[in-house]
Amino acid sequence: MKYADIIVDISLEALNRVFQYIVPEILESKVRVGSQVMVPFGSGNRIIKGFVIGFSEKPDYAPDKLKEIYSIPKGSMVVESQMICLADWMCRMYGCTRIQALKTVLCVRRKIQGGTKKIYFLAVSREEAEAEMKKLSVQPRFASRAALLALFLDDREGKGITEDIMKKNVPSPMNALRTLIKHGWIEVREASDYRIPFLGVEDGKQVQLSREQQKAVEDICEDERMVHLLYGVTGSGKTEVYMQLIERTLMSGRQAIVLIPEISLTYQNIGRFRQRFGRRVSVMNSRMSEGERYDQYIQAKNGEIDIMIGPRSALFTPFPNPGLIIIDEEQDGAYKNDTTPKYHAVDVAVERMRLCGGKVVLGSATPSVVAYDRAVRGIYGLHLLKKRVAGGAAMAETCVVDLRNELKQKNYSIFSRKLQREMEVRLEKKEQILLFLNRRGYAGFISCRSCGHVIRCPHCDISMTLHKAEGNVLKCHYCGLTLPLPGNCPECGSGYIGAFGMGTQKVVEMLEKRFPQARILRADRDSMRRKNSSMEVFQAFSKGEADILVGTQMIVKGHDFPNVTLVGVLAADLSMFSGDYLAGERTFQLLTQAAGRAGRGEKPGLAVIQTYQPEHYAVTCAAAQDFEAFYSQEILYRQLMRYPPAGHMMAVIIEHEDEMTAREGSLLLAGVMAGKDVHILPPAEGFRAKEKDCYRKVIYIKSNEINGLIRSRERAQAFIRGEALFREINVQFDINPMNLY
Ligand code: ADP
Ligand code: ZN
Ligand code: ZN
Repeated sequence: MKYADIIVDISLEALNRVFQYIVPEILESKVRVGSQVMVPFGSGNRIIKGFVIGFSEKPDYAPDKLKEIYSIPKGSMVVESQMICLADWMCRMYGCTRIQALKTVLCVRRKIQGGTKKIYFLAVSREEAEAEMKKLSVQPRFASRAALLALFLDDREGKGITEDIMKKNVPSPMNALRTLIKHGWIEVREASDYRIPFLGVEDGKQVQLSREQQKAVEDICEDERMVHLLYGVTGSGKTEVYMQLIERTLMSGRQAIVLIPEISLTYQNIGRFRQRFGRRVSVMNSRMSEGERYDQYIQAKNGEIDIMIGPRSALFTPFPNPGLIIIDEEQDGAYKNDTTPKYHAVDVAVERMRLCGGKVVLGSATPSVVAYDRAVRGIYGLHLLKKRVAGGAAMAETCVVDLRNELKQKNYSIFSRKLQREMEVRLEKKEQILLFLNRRGYAGFISCRSCGHVIRCPHCDISMTLHKAEGNVLKCHYCGLTLPLPGNCPECGSGYIGAFGMGTQKVVEMLEKRFPQARILRADRDSMRRKNSSMEVFQAFSKGEADILVGTQMIVKGHDFPNVTLVGVLAADLSMFSGDYLAGERTFQLLTQAAGRAGRGEKPGLAVIQTYQPEHYAVTCAAAQDFEAFYSQEILYRQLMRYPPAGHMMAVIIEHEDEMTAREGSLLLAGVMAGKDVHILPPAEGFRAKEKDCYRKVIYIKSNEINGLIRSRERAQAFIRGEALFREINVQFDINPMNLY
């Protein structure tokens, strides 16, 4: 006998209340995970609809208490069924629980008691909005988000609201107000900056595709492969190709999802989709409220929209028949979900399209090594856009500065002489400068300022990390190897060996000293805590309110500053030695993007890359803007070390407040997970070894086959269920991790 777990509604409450039914023999071959079924419910045995979310061989209750599934309704597969299948795949792939997976993919929402009232109005200033809301007795929590209210004119015809329309409406908004409310013309929602695209967009003209673009469109449509990589430099017209593909998808009666890294959800990017497709497009971002997101989901399900643009969670838009998922900037780290289930958007997109026979298009100017590898091996279709369609701006010139020489010349500043000269020139000419400190993933490595040598783990070939608190030891966070910190450089014998550190704050201080006349802005995670403050800084900089913008990786993405003619990368080494196998790839991408920031406008640009390892291929290839050369070097390293894509890797994270328990747990698990088809590294101390009073151990496992890792994980999970020690130990699994734990 087979038993089915069934939910009778798509809501948060339903997910926490699963009912078990007997699968009658005649239906056994037909009922699958995701199937919509009719079941008798409640004491009156009313027949209602439900969804099968899983099966078990054994009943959880006495079988005579269980009812039977009544029937399977005829008709096509509903979207909920698809999403439940997707959740089922996520459980198997990522090892999360069924509920975690369902919560991730289904648009569930707590039932709202009493319903909500929509409030429409318009205001220019925060003060005005707050005053008005007081009068209307609107909940004050809206008040804090009122500053942008003027932007929320509801653009019914999808024409875009021009500044003229805004100006006409803004002078006496409150008197306008009541009429507008009455007609339902304007709408107030929580301020999310994604709505800015409706402002001031110019007329959307459809361009004639170039021959390269046309070929890419045709090839992607005709090719039978499901996944395609569209590889073209910035400005080569990828977005136009996406839009053409979307148009064809809509023409065939299907819907499309476009994923963009959150940071690139800017008005330039989205405005074009709005111009072309009007109100058929909806935009999602992570700051939206549950209710707002739910509204969009309902619109998608009801066929009111057919394009959804957003970050990775937009993948789960419940379109009834999606035919295309586009993932722009596919290499971006933001596509990896860092909470359980730790999925990668590309993999989920591929699975979703496999379930309904659609296509996935990955776009990039600097593809990930994984995607490019699959493309050159023919697993993905590969389509190149070699020419820039946007005239004018040429590629920036790049120049690599060897910081070892600066030391020899007794320049102890963080700015090389070359960079200082170039900055003086720009400040003189009133052109703008970006200074970039790529601290992402910065792990406190040890390097020699004299020869550039970095200490790496002999087994894992990743840079080792300094731990001062434990008496200056070096650790490998993959295999746990620990070494004493040497007093001299093992390569050249120099005493200039030590930790490498630099923060944006420090850079700003040094700048103020060196260039007292310059106006400086800073953009990093600390200075960006406040909501919208990143927008404010970027807007101020693009209006020319500062000469120099200092920041972390967030300044190199997605923003166009036409007056920037100089980009300085202060230390390429920071990301080159971040203690994981992706360090080289990350560095190449950051440097390429940084170089791409210079000379966006009419004026020629220059990128100055400072480094102690100018001969490293991530630097030389980025300076030459040569992705293929980078790939051919990097893939050798991956193959040698069996890192993805040459193999698969899984991190098992073990946390407990008592270090001995965490250690014991990790040793036990390592034993259970061992097997012929996997290679287990010894349990290591986490990179963040202690967090929130929890000690963290990590086990890295490699395998040629992803299934080897999945089987290994299943052994661990079975063991954990039966072992008392693990009741309080938190264990997480991450397939192909992209960060150090
Ligand atoms: P990418 O997405 O690769 O960075 P875009 O699609 O944004 O490139 O194109 C860059 C610019 O070139 C845009 O302003 C776009 O409108 C314009 N463009 C794209 N394709 C064409 C074309 N075939 N003819 C003229 N202009 C084009
Ligand atoms: Zn040295
Ligand atoms: Zn190691």
